[in-house]
Amino acid sequence: MASDIEMDGVSLGEWINRELRADCFFETDGWAMERVRRVNERLQQDRPPETRFIVEVPWMDETVAFTSPGRYVYFSRRLLELCDDEAAAFVIAHEIAHHDLGHLDILPDWIAKMGRSLHLGGAILGSLFLEIEKRIYGPENECAADRHALDLCLAAGYDGLRCLAVFDHLERDALDRRDLDIVYGPDPSDDELDENAGFNTRLKIWFWQRSRGYLPIRDRRAMLLKRLQSLEMEASVGRG
Ligand SMILES: [Zn+2]
Repeated sequence: MASDIEMDGVSLGEWINRELRADCFFETDGWAMERVRRVNERLQQDRPPETRFIVEVPWMDETVAFTSPGRYVYFSRRLLELCDDEAAAFVIAHEIAHHDLGHLDILPDWIAKMGRSLHLGGAILGSLFLEIEKRIYGPENECAADRHALDLCLAAGYDGLRCLAVFDHLERDALDRRDLDIVYGPDPSDDELDENAGFNTRLKIWFWQRSRGYLPIRDRRAMLLKRLQSLEMEASVGRG
């Protein structure tokens, strides 16, 4: 599990979870929880129970999944509505992959410290980690997480091709929205060198410095299809 940041005896992951819960409705039972629990259990069956990630299903406007330091993966109900078990498995595996690959270690301590001292609410925290998911990991890390996610799905016995159908759902959703290209850039008036800059200013600059965009959905799918085909070829050579 990725390292979590402790402060005043409460880990950042638990604190974020609490703040998010105070701000939006989390699914408790019904088909949505049944699906994520079933899939999550199958994906993590080989991990010791105390290191397993917990999948939460918040009602948010966005069609997204994201994670934070600690043990939680957030899977918006809107995205879950588009997914069957295989697609959901890929989404969850992708978030777990960010932890397995150490991608959350980029988070600077001041985000936790200032965020807590300013009492940022769950909505702001949610959008913070959403932006991190979309922009901060960068295309290399996203590709690595996609590849690792596919491996996790295959290891759990899922049909790889059916898992990749999640990209069709994401593409349709992106086309419906047309608003994905919001650019997070600092205002020209923001002074990067100002040590006393407020949280929002520092956050905007931090985003901007790391923002490298992310790969188009089609490129992600094409890369994974190729990987799937070469894995199948290797397997058939092994069998032959
Ligand atoms: Zn990601």
